[in-house]
Amino acid sequence: AAVAELRGVGVAYGGRPVLADVDLRIEPGELLAIVGPSGAGKSTLLRVLASLREADSGQVLRPEAGGGSTRVVFQAPHLLPWRSVSGNVRIGLEYRANGGHRRRGRADANAQVATALDELGIADLANRRPGQLSGGQAQRVAVARAVVANPSLLLLDEPFGALDPLTRADAQEWLRGVRERLGIAMLLITHDLEEALYLGDRVGLLHAAPGPLEFLDSPVHERA
Ligand code: ADP
Ligand code: ADP
Repeated sequence: AAVAELRGVGVAYGGRPVLADVDLRIEPGELLAIVGPSGAGKSTLLRVLASLREADSGQVLRPEAGGGSTRVVFQAPHLLPWRSVSGNVRIGLEYRANGGHRRRGRADANAQVATALDELGIADLANRRPGQLSGGQAQRVAVARAVVANPSLLLLDEPFGALDPLTRADAQEWLRGVRERLGIAMLLITHDLEEALYLGDRVGLLHAAPGPLEFLDSPVHERA
């Protein structure tokens, strides 16, 4: 079964359609990249999948129904500056919808945070404060906070969009490397076609609003 599905979804702002009749399925473990120009409705699509906005028409089938959960990473990491990296990642457990952390106790939570940092290759950053991180490191920490509670779906909204080109290439390679280990289905929103082709198992093109969502047949997995 899909971890999330949209059927004929439409969204309008003040009567102006932004998404019209969008169909999409996200399969377990896959990375679906959605690319499109600014204003095409990519963030709106992500907000519908994250339940941050209701669709005006069509059906939204989300993983919550199957017991999983959805987490989002935005372009800015939004880390708490007074907490260490570990403390920031632990927030991903503290704000769990079903409140697991407090019942399971602190030692257990700390172990789970350590495992997540390890899996993402950032264990060496555990005791730093956000002010001591580069932009690329801060986004890795934001991803760790999002995946520490093992969501069934991770939504990434231009996660590397604010990084300079070299840091960005580095972060893309990193995400490709850790994906297998995580095994979490991901939807990546980007305006960068090269990024979509490099990271996506499947790539969808969202045309200028309210344009169709069109899937590419076979994304190329090589970097030019
Ligand atoms: P609607 O009124 O069509 O249901 P929303 O409730 O989502 O749309 O609108 C939320 C608020 O965001 C509105 O007050 C709207 O004026 C404001 N807004 C307008 N233009 C934009 C924009 N380009 N990006 C984000 N918010 C906007
Ligand atoms: P993208 O992420 O592809 O740039 P968005 O989903 O952010 O596209 O926005 C699609 C269109 O809807 C844009 O024209 C934007 O200005 C408009 N828009 C986004 N949010 C709102 C809102 N809350 N209220 C009104 N208009 C909005």
